[in-house]
Amino acid sequence: MNNTNRRVFILQAAVGSSALLATTAMAQAKVDEKDPQAAALGYAADTTKVDAKKFPKHAAAQKCSNCQLYTGKAADATGPCPLFAGKVVTANGWCSAYVKKA
Ligand code: SF4
Repeated sequence: MNNTNRRVFILQAAVGSSALLATTAMAQAKVDEKDPQAAALGYAADTTKVDAKKFPKHAAAQKCSNCQLYTGKAADATGPCPLFAGKVVTANGWCSAYVKKA
């Protein structure tokens, strides 16, 4: 391997691993309450902070971890929700699409 090839190889390796890191970070990014989709659904990362006036049917016992759509594990602080593809919601979060787990 001459010097130019080696430099190209090192560059490619660096680009490859940072792209991988970015993908991993993106897959685990938490939903931002200000995201248009989150705002439209009234998503709150903390169910106790939900606006009771806007969402009178909300109850503090309702949270992502006991929502039908939540696919995270019971012990995890965050987990996936199909309404927010590619991101995670907090186990203590809530949105207006909440459906009690059967
Ligand atoms: S649909 Fe359920 S799991 Fe998804 S954000 Fe709303 S309350 Fe949380």
